[in-house]
Amino acid sequence: MTQKERYAFVLNYFETHSPNAETELIYDNPYQLLVAVILSAQCTDKRVNMTTPAIFERYPDVYALSKATFDDLFPLIRSISYPNNKTKHLIGMANMVVEEFNGEIPATVAELVKLPGVGRKTANVITSVIHHQPNMAVDTHVFRVAARIGLTHNAKTPLQTELQLIKNIPKDKIHIAHHWLILHGRYICVARTPKCEECGLRPACKYYAKLVKAQ
Ligand code: SF4
Repeated sequence: MTQKERYAFVLNYFETHSPNAETELIYDNPYQLLVAVILSAQCTDKRVNMTTPAIFERYPDVYALSKATFDDLFPLIRSISYPNNKTKHLIGMANMVVEEFNGEIPATVAELVKLPGVGRKTANVITSVIHHQPNMAVDTHVFRVAARIGLTHNAKTPLQTELQLIKNIPKDKIHIAHHWLILHGRYICVARTPKCEECGLRPACKYYAKLVKAQ
């Protein structure tokens, strides 16, 4: 199977079986998604979703959050990983959005990465989820799944994975391909023991081909 055929098989499979894949974070607007994504670093979406309703009730927009004090916000996110840093990042992000972006969450990666707590991965998530820009956020699932299937070759860093994927996936599918790979990694191609026998990508998967050969 050529690399082109592999990509075609994988994209076609997901398009057929998961045409409406989307983020599992619960949000109503760009402000809420940005808060949720900042909180989701090293933390499950499930836990973030348990935490954000209280935050959004108390701080319904970026202006309200910009006026929060550390001591007010911290208790609301205490149960999430790295609560100290995330409290500081959220307040810093809100202040910068108010002061430098007129209260609007920026819509480009270049602007988003200026915000405290926002790296390339978060900026890619925001721009692809909200604006369907062809940006690929690479988390641990995307990194692992892409490598196992053989969509990436010798990628050593998330950036290398990102660049290889966006080079090979049609532009209009990049934003949804991000969810396909994440969800596949979360539920089927899990880290320790991938559930290959349940996986429809076997005919195109390099990892699976090696498994079969070794038997
Ligand atoms: S066949 Fe196995 S290793 Fe390959 S994508 Fe599916 S679950 Fe992952």
